Amino acid sequence: MARQQQADGGRGPAGASDTQTKQPQGHAAGQLLTMRQAIELLKTSRPTFYRWVREGRLVGTKLGRQWRFQRGDVERFLAGQAPRIELRADPAPLVAALAQRLEGLGVKGYASDEPDAIARAIALMVRLAVAMQASDFHIEPYTTGGPEGAIAVLRYRVDGVLHPVARIDIRLLPAIDERFKGLAACDVRERVRPQDGRILARVADTGRLMDLRVCFVSALLGPSLTVRVLDPDVVHLLNLDRIGYAQRDKEKLLRALRAPWGTVIISGPTGCGKTTVIYACLNHLATPDRKLMSIEDPVEVLLPGVVQVPLRPHEGVTFPTALRAFLRSAPNVIHVGEIRDLETLQIVHQAALTGHLLLTTLHADEAARALKRMVEIGSDPFLVADSTKLIIAQRLIRKLCPECSVEAQPPASQLEQAAGLASAGGLDWAALPRAFRAPRGCPKCHQTGFRGRGVIAEALEVTPEIGAALRRAAALDELRAIAVGQGMTSLAADGVRRAAEGLTSLEEALRVL
Ligand SMILES: [Zn+2]
Repeated sequence: MARQQQADGGRGPAGASDTQTKQPQGHAAGQLLTMRQAIELLKTSRPTFYRWVREGRLVGTKLGRQWRFQRGDVERFLAGQAPRIELRADPAPLVAALAQRLEGLGVKGYASDEPDAIARAIALMVRLAVAMQASDFHIEPYTTGGPEGAIAVLRYRVDGVLHPVARIDIRLLPAIDERFKGLAACDVRERVRPQDGRILARVADTGRLMDLRVCFVSALLGPSLTVRVLDPDVVHLLNLDRIGYAQRDKEKLLRALRAPWGTVIISGPTGCGKTTVIYACLNHLATPDRKLMSIEDPVEVLLPGVVQVPLRPHEGVTFPTALRAFLRSAPNVIHVGEIRDLETLQIVHQAALTGHLLLTTLHADEAARALKRMVEIGSDPFLVADSTKLIIAQRLIRKLCPECSVEAQPPASQLEQAAGLASAGGLDWAALPRAFRAPRGCPKCHQTGFRGRGVIAEALEVTPEIGAALRRAAALDELRAIAVGQGMTSLAADGVRRAAEGLTSLEEALRVL
């Protein structure tokens, strides 16, 4: 601490800002101090001072990029008094904005009997998520870069795209954060460390139960919340018939699921619907005569008939440790959330080759690459070829809004590209329908022209020919060509087909690849 003060003093005389510290210091409560002055007054070190500010024990304000502290606040802190409480902002505009948005979607007077404005705002936020069919919503403090300083923004993600819905007075954030933490059974007084919580909320007018997963992060400008909206009733929708695979791909998947052993891998980037497919498979397999065990990060939906274990790395529950415990529990079907490392992959191979059906996911943009990826992670190509039955790679595409989409003739360059992708991907371009459509936009689709999402996929069966190619380290192109030769429709070709059928726009189909 002494060194810190010395260092500050030593640097002082040369700096221009130092003239300020040498100015006579008045004692008016309203006098603003620079951070240096406040630190000097408190005779502390810079890190300790930062901590006090972060913890909210000392109140400061930002003037542009510089912190300023009221002498009165610093003196209150020295005297051991509680920080001055800033006047709370008015939540009424936020409540009104949310209520108005809901009314636009046909929900009137929701939670209007709730006397507490913050509680009402939160009820409206959750109800709006249901009305908009949002997968998640976000409350985030930002700097505006302008004179108004910082604001908070409320955004909802619908069909994978974020939509700003309201601005929130940043002074309301602590109260909103505290209320959400209380609902999520988190530590309300913990304002710094990240926390995760879960809220089961009953939507009053529909009676539906919502499962909300809230993630709290403390940003420099204030608390930031992410709320994922899960619908527990979704279990009934987790049906392989509803996934929307092409008939031939669905048959390949059902055939692989009928096998008593082997690995089925769903691959694709984050947010491509892998988990939904895995849950639909587990749902399909969960009959009273089978034992199913699942290690997940996190458990998103509770499934009847499946022993679901959440990943808890800090308590020693990792994919490998859980898998080893599963193998001692004699299950028929095992689901491993994701293959990320060689250790997990090796136990997956071992489990598959000792009479278990394995379901898992892998980060890879196409099915052939997922095969190569396992070898790159360090696995023996012989083991990969012998234990893997089927790899599905998929993407989600936005579906055109049925209310407003219009017939369209895509430009020649796009059609040419589509024809190339279709024939390279195992589809007969000439035999495809030409029912191309384009988005327009209406109130039902929030003017985006799209509503809901569908899946496009390719299903690669690990045949003896594929296995032989993998063992001789064949290139990606060759693996893909063999698969297409054996009847695989590529992801790109599947996307072109959806566009040709008018389910999505050709532009959207080409965009997601
Ligand atoms: Zn529309």
